[in-house]
Amino acid sequence: MQVKPPEHFCCHRFHPRTKATGLQQPDSDRVGAAGVGDPYFPTMGNGGYDADHYDLRLDVDPANNHLTASCEMKARALQDLDAFNLDFRNFDIAHITVNGTEAKFQREGGELTITPEQPLLAGQDFSVKVDYAGNPVPYESSHAPITIGWNPTDDGGSYVLSEPDGSSTWYPVNDHPRDKATYKFYVTVPNDYQAVCNGKLVEKSPLGEDKTTYVWDAQDPMASYLSTVNVGKFEEQLQTGPEGVPIHNFFATPVAKKAKKDFERVPEMMEWFSNRYGKYPFETYGNLVINANVGGAALETQTRPIYERGMVTGDKRAEYIYAHELAHQWWGNSTSVENWKDIWLNEGFANYSHMQWKHEHDGSFKKLDRAMYQMYMFLPRNSPPVVDPGENDMFSENVYNRGAVTLHLLRKDLGDETFFNCLKTYGEQYRGKNVTTDDFIAVVNTVSGQDKTEFFDRWLRQSKLPPWPGNPLG
Ligand SMILES: [Zn+2]
Repeated sequence: MQVKPPEHFCCHRFHPRTKATGLQQPDSDRVGAAGVGDPYFPTMGNGGYDADHYDLRLDVDPANNHLTASCEMKARALQDLDAFNLDFRNFDIAHITVNGTEAKFQREGGELTITPEQPLLAGQDFSVKVDYAGNPVPYESSHAPITIGWNPTDDGGSYVLSEPDGSSTWYPVNDHPRDKATYKFYVTVPNDYQAVCNGKLVEKSPLGEDKTTYVWDAQDPMASYLSTVNVGKFEEQLQTGPEGVPIHNFFATPVAKKAKKDFERVPEMMEWFSNRYGKYPFETYGNLVINANVGGAALETQTRPIYERGMVTGDKRAEYIYAHELAHQWWGNSTSVENWKDIWLNEGFANYSHMQWKHEHDGSFKKLDRAMYQMYMFLPRNSPPVVDPGENDMFSENVYNRGAVTLHLLRKDLGDETFFNCLKTYGEQYRGKNVTTDDFIAVVNTVSGQDKTEFFDRWLRQSKLPPWPGNPLG
């Protein structure tokens, strides 16, 4: 996520809910947990199963801001389950089936507890389908700097940004990056709108006289907060990245002409980052500019980052933000956090990436070095640590900037060849997986043949800002 200007969101404490229980009062050992165990989000995600795939069918009525929807999750039980949870807020649920048979359910806050007629056995594949309808409600998460979830645009359509916990406000989901899954979206909209989601557009078929169904296939496993469905009026642009990666852009009509110019260097950007970080990790890419301004935010929604209208200027002024969201495809999307306290692995890396694009690609290492020193000079001398900054400081500027400075100083210390080998190895080893800061440090130590543990401790885990090593003007 990139938010300009930086905003600090209000700091409501998160109140963990008590664990919901199934209707039949089953033995608690046979009920999936109501959370995955992330200390910042006690009820985010659920235990007892592993989601593999979501089929999302959404019939969108933009005039009435109404969804008629079904979500089918295919999963595998990791334990015997008399009942299990999905994360889901709002909407009316018509019915729920498990393996095609009607199941009982109850709701408490954001937890939907489902009790299948036949208990599930450990190792068993199962599918759960939830039919629901209603008006999506934008979500004021206490953890996000902007309103998230399903929101209206200025052309009567809608957009979805969900980091970190907004996905459960528009579909039932195991809502934590630890449980990545593939997705297929079937989105039906009136003919004068288009639907844009993650992955590849594989089909566009008329439904009656007035509607069209857009089918999007996202075959690369994805963290739920990176899923998105957008309804609007767009112009399309096709580009080709390195090794033929298709880049399919959608630009809100009023800014499309300028956007085509602003985004023209994206293939070059992808090639440049591929040379530094290794092969682009997904099968497809494409940018989406929505017809709304959303508090200066962009989000790295997987394979299809979203930008507000104001990030199109016609003179590439916001190009560094496109670089930031592209870099997230490697850092944050392919390599996903195991716990939200390690969010610097997303944001420190993406911030350092856009600084490289802005100051080094279009300048020199010396220019980048000066810019990083300037960034360092603006860092607070004492701050919450970069790793585990506390749930209310997850998206603080310090996490982004001190994280980026840390990577820059590591690069200067190791030299370019070793530094970028570390990043390539890390990206490759954890491609499509979850990561912790210790995982990254272990890769750096192995690839460099040096023990950098103490360096990372000082820069990432302590409040006091270490001195800039050496002569900054040298
Ligand atoms: Zn970001």
